[in-house]
Amino acid sequence: MIMSAPPPASDSGRLFGAPLSSPAVRVLVDGLDDMVLDYAVPPGMQVQRGCRVEVPLRSRKTTATVLALVEGQHDYALKPVLRLIEEEPVISPVLMDLAEWAASYYATPVEQMLRCVVPEPVRRERHDEKTKKFVRLLRRPTDDELNKINARAPRRAAILRYLMESLEDGEYLSSLGGTSALAPCRALEAQGLLSLEERAVHRDPAGEETFVPSVPLHLNDDQQNALDVILQAFNNGDSKPILLQGVTGSGKTEVYLQAARQVISKGKGVLILVPEISLTPQTMSRFKSRFAEQPGTVAILHSAMSDGERFDEWHSIRRGRARIAIGPRSALFAPVTDLGLIIVDEEHDTSYKQENSPRYHGRDLAVVRARMERATIVLGSATPSLESILNARRGKYKLVRMDKRADERHLPLTRVLDMRSEPKDKRYHGILSERLRCALEDRLHKGEQAILLLNRRGFARALQCPDCGHMVICEHCALPLTYHLTENRLVCHICGYRAIVPECCPECNSRSILLAGYGTQKVETVLKRCFPTARICRVDADVTVRKNALRDILANFRAHCIDILLGTQMISKGLDFPGVTLVGVLNADLGLCVPDPRAAERTFQLLTQVAGRAGRGEVDGEVIIQTYSPQAAAIQFARRHDTDGFAENELGLREKFAFPPFSHLAVLTVRSEQEDLAAFALATLHKRLLAVLPSGVEISDPLPAPLPKAFGQFRYQCVLKAARARVLSDIVSAEINRLSPGDSVIVTLDIDAYNFT
Ligand code: ADP
Ligand code: ZN
Ligand code: ZN
Repeated sequence: MIMSAPPPASDSGRLFGAPLSSPAVRVLVDGLDDMVLDYAVPPGMQVQRGCRVEVPLRSRKTTATVLALVEGQHDYALKPVLRLIEEEPVISPVLMDLAEWAASYYATPVEQMLRCVVPEPVRRERHDEKTKKFVRLLRRPTDDELNKINARAPRRAAILRYLMESLEDGEYLSSLGGTSALAPCRALEAQGLLSLEERAVHRDPAGEETFVPSVPLHLNDDQQNALDVILQAFNNGDSKPILLQGVTGSGKTEVYLQAARQVISKGKGVLILVPEISLTPQTMSRFKSRFAEQPGTVAILHSAMSDGERFDEWHSIRRGRARIAIGPRSALFAPVTDLGLIIVDEEHDTSYKQENSPRYHGRDLAVVRARMERATIVLGSATPSLESILNARRGKYKLVRMDKRADERHLPLTRVLDMRSEPKDKRYHGILSERLRCALEDRLHKGEQAILLLNRRGFARALQCPDCGHMVICEHCALPLTYHLTENRLVCHICGYRAIVPECCPECNSRSILLAGYGTQKVETVLKRCFPTARICRVDADVTVRKNALRDILANFRAHCIDILLGTQMISKGLDFPGVTLVGVLNADLGLCVPDPRAAERTFQLLTQVAGRAGRGEVDGEVIIQTYSPQAAAIQFARRHDTDGFAENELGLREKFAFPPFSHLAVLTVRSEQEDLAAFALATLHKRLLAVLPSGVEISDPLPAPLPKAFGQFRYQCVLKAARARVLSDIVSAEINRLSPGDSVIVTLDIDAYNFT
């Protein structure tokens, strides 16, 4: 619910409470609804934008965030703000501006963006820093005293001895025996020997882990050059993004560490964004280790942390105690003070794009934040996004390269295996080639470990010929057509082109052309049949729902309690296992079967990352890539680790079809439990949009989405394409607001969409 309009004036016209021209504030009320209300500011209260306040709401009190100061525009009485929670604004002006910028770009209510800026546990405010009883020795007892105490109350003497030996300035009561130690301590307090006080404990999410301090490595020339470029930009207050393109293992993290060290030594703060943190714990622990001598310097922000931990870390960042904040996408809004440097690690990673509302892109907003704060920003990757590569080519970003591996490890041997020539053995369902099966058998026999990757994203329903690898694609977009069961047609989801389903392969006339794709469960069944004694573990999206589930699986795998780890791309990021000597990619081209302009790019990135990371231990690694389209550019360039070649080729195609990064795509989705309502609402929107969209903006026909039904709701969708994203945000959101389709229909607009299912 969005209530921008305050309650109506009393009908008598008489005013109660605050006079007309008194200062007032517009606040976002904490709670589930996005409620925006105005309140009067009592005389003498210094309220600023971004402050946290307490306000009356109906018969209760609630907390809220000040969105704006509004003056004298009310023709009715406002209730007053009750209390200013803190004089200092909790949200800095830059973060308020950033939220507003993002709200307008992504056509999202600013309230939703602010929810990201002030995380839930902070909004609830109730997690005042927890305190624990702390016992401090005030005076050392003499031996004589101690003996006397020991004679009467041995427990008290034991506590005293313990405290006398302590290396700290005291101990928490809990380490003296908890509540049972309270009475003896109180008695000793009465004797003036010790003091009992409440002490705030900072909940550190990495609290139980210890970090071995690490020392800076001597940088090689490439690394030194990258560091120089970053520090020069920092010293000049230059926020033109730096694209650090460094092959896997080139030592990018070491550069980040040394840059961060320099920046905090100048009194500035650092923000580091990483892909989903449970998959990349290494980056976090490397920062914790490097700054281990100053505990508290590095703060972690991460949704799997407890509310208390998040509250503490957030405030520690805001107060400027923690100077380096690390976290995934949402950490982009971390309240780092005096921000000097932002690093976006693995900038190409699609987890930076939020898949539900507000659908912002963390990397893109990081670039905006850097500009607003005049901070330096580094985007690092071995396989940069084409968006960033194009920006570098156009001179909007500064490109810095590191083309050699710092650790001098070999890249693993990579083989591309043509599945078209495999015998069609029913037992393996076209899942395992003989080559991969033998390799697995061999590695298991030697007691080594393997990872099997299933390249699957969304819901591939494309047609592919198992004999020649031909995939049925759209004439206009060169993207795979999606099979629609209901009308028995192939449809292009980007432009709306339709085709009949061929009875045999248009290339080779094979009659076995079929729907491509299988899931992890099916693979698991086949694997268990092939290797009955192997310990096989499957990871997919449902597994990761549970907190720490993935972390536990990865730990088990590291401890070699699992022989074969099977999963989708999500496990490719954690591919730093010394015991793994074999990585099999089961169906490299399935990722190409999705109607997504970035399908080839993602496949290339996945394969390159896999090939770059496998074989980290003593034994040389091996990568086997199974595919029906061995000639596909994504696969060939990945095999040669040729990022530039791929980018050149793919940018050519994207430009030809005017796909991103040469345009912006938005997905308009309508969902409803009643199919006709969803279809009708989208048809109506589509018709109105056709009338108002300026020329040059393309809109596809309204269609059932590639994923036509999910969570009990029917989904209808169309795709829009424009040279500028703003056109889409402004015009389409205006039409959505005009439609007011009722509660049973949900309309969403995903600007710069990464998901087309
Ligand atoms: P990237 O982040 O680019 O994939 P890493 O930072 O993980 O690369 O570095 C890969 C390996 O190389 C790590 O084990 C790291 O300790 C090592 N390394 C990095 N820089 C150096 C250096 N200058 N000298 C020696 N080893 C290095
Ligand atoms: Zn064929
Ligand atoms: Zn098309």
